[in-house]
Amino acid sequence: MKRFKADLHMHTVLSPCGSLEMSPVVIVNKALERGLDIIGITDHNSTRQCAEVYKVGKQKGITVICGAEVTTKEEVHCLTFFENFEKLELFQKYLDEHLPIILNDVEKFGYQVWVDEAEEIVGQEERLLISALDQSIDEVEQKVRELNGLFIPAHIFRPSFSVYSQLGFMPFDITPDAIGMSARVVVDEQIKKYPELKQYTVLRSSDAHFPEQIGTHYSIIEMEEANFEELRKALHQQGGRKVIELK
Ligand SMILES: [Zn+2]
Ligand SMILES: [Zn+2]
Repeated sequence: MKRFKADLHMHTVLSPCGSLEMSPVVIVNKALERGLDIIGITDHNSTRQCAEVYKVGKQKGITVICGAEVTTKEEVHCLTFFENFEKLELFQKYLDEHLPIILNDVEKFGYQVWVDEAEEIVGQEERLLISALDQSIDEVEQKVRELNGLFIPAHIFRPSFSVYSQLGFMPFDITPDAIGMSARVVVDEQIKKYPELKQYTVLRSSDAHFPEQIGTHYSIIEMEEANFEELRKALHQQGGRKVIELK
């Protein structure tokens, strides 16, 4: 078994709140500099920057797990990840169907562009990506399950946009692959307070919006290889694989 340093939650230039510096090449170079083996690309309600980051990551030897940070109807942020580009595209279609038609105000929220490896703009999302989908948390989870993806409620104790801020409890009808907790919460204390969370693997990540934030928080995962299927097994603690440390 090997140990991998994973930061599975970060935004790119595509998120309106993500820095324009967060291009595929900057993200991958910074991740290498910070000693990360695996990064997750999780823009708000869009997967459209994933493929280019994946490509650059592959050239430079970093595993890029592709997905999105979805805002559910209840305004809960959930990370979603997919095993291949076919599944990712089907999920993008679902996002396009369920993101409300509210246009982005660039002045107010920032640019929503995606770029190639040379940092040339490839496309621009017109709809505001930080809106909530018209889908509830269990509907989003169901779609992710249909596509054999990973479903991970993000920063669950954050004072806004989280399971506990919006719902006050972990819904009984969802079965996350893991849960995210930010560095400001003490995991053991929260699990004592909410014993229903004991069954889940906890992940910590940077939620980087700027290059300097990449890898400032991460999870050390013990598994055979740095790939999607191994990650799934590690989150479910199969065959000795597990998350062994949170930073
Ligand atoms: Zn979030
Ligand atoms: Zn985020």
